[in-house]
Amino acid sequence: MKANLYEGNHSFALHDYEPAPPKAHEVQVDVAYCGICGSDLHVYHGDYDYRFKSLPRAIGHECAGIVAAVGEDVTGWKVGDRVAVCPLDYCEDCVVCKEGDNNCCANLNFMGLDSWGAMCNRWTVHERTLHRLPEGISLLHGALVEPLAVCFHALERSQSKGGDYAVVIGSGPIGLMTALVARYLGLQVVISEVNPIRIEKARQLGFTVVNPKETDLRQYVFEATDGVGADAVFEVSGTQAGLDTMVELIHPHSRVVLVAAYPKPMQLQLQRLFMKEVNLIITRNYNHKDFDAAIEMMEAAPINFDELITKVLPLDQVQQGMELCGSPTGDVVKVMVDCRSHL
Ligand SMILES: [Zn+2]
Ligand SMILES: [Zn+2]
Repeated sequence: MKANLYEGNHSFALHDYEPAPPKAHEVQVDVAYCGICGSDLHVYHGDYDYRFKSLPRAIGHECAGIVAAVGEDVTGWKVGDRVAVCPLDYCEDCVVCKEGDNNCCANLNFMGLDSWGAMCNRWTVHERTLHRLPEGISLLHGALVEPLAVCFHALERSQSKGGDYAVVIGSGPIGLMTALVARYLGLQVVISEVNPIRIEKARQLGFTVVNPKETDLRQYVFEATDGVGADAVFEVSGTQAGLDTMVELIHPHSRVVLVAAYPKPMQLQLQRLFMKEVNLIITRNYNHKDFDAAIEMMEAAPINFDELITKVLPLDQVQQGMELCGSPTGDVVKVMVDCRSHL
């Protein structure tokens, strides 16, 4: 068996390995595809080296595949089942887990970042991580379920309802998918984006896109809402400019949702939020119900998910995939790794 392992110091390489046989309540998955995520880029750039107890190790957490073996006491799954993996290894014992959520379990092990990941031929995971992929969803599209679940969680956290006017700031992969989920749930969506290639991509998907460098976004939003302002603003750019724009677009009692991860301290115009008693909402990861919602949307929505997949690379080209995803031109949405390509 092969796995492409992070070796530290900006490097990935193909290695031989023997996947662990599934223990009780574990399932071994033949990984078909694994998407490269922004957080994987943090690994590539060395930002997450503190999360690696030892090197080299496989990363990757956006995957779909087929059950290849099941351990003792596994009752819900059998060899041949098509699955997506929810990569949260949680304790079931902390205050969040006891509330029925797991997204920010106090003892969370995020599989693929804190432990062995999916960029390999076979991945052994706990049975509770699996979600069934219907026949109508290809294994390639199945690898998009995880990032879509991120967006469903953000929408749920935003307390939005059909007809709400929403602005999505930034249309990288998660911004674009947040906009797709928001539209699917019946919100009116406008995207704010400065990169011309990303603007074009979002327009191809049918979105109204405003470039705040060319158009006064605040004026645009207030005109579009008869002077009211946006009901919800999703900040997905992770930039200071995005945070500054966000506070310009809101009305009293509206919601601002921070979807991006902000590894460095940022400035937030709290006075602006205070004056309008705005709900400041943070969103992280997802729960199992967000995976269910993402799978349901993939089956129901008339969206060509191929539009989101820029390239599929063989398992030995993870490093090239990282370079592609990090390219400053912004022409890459999702890069997928074909994990069956070196069996
Ligand atoms: Zn991800
Ligand atoms: Zn917990």
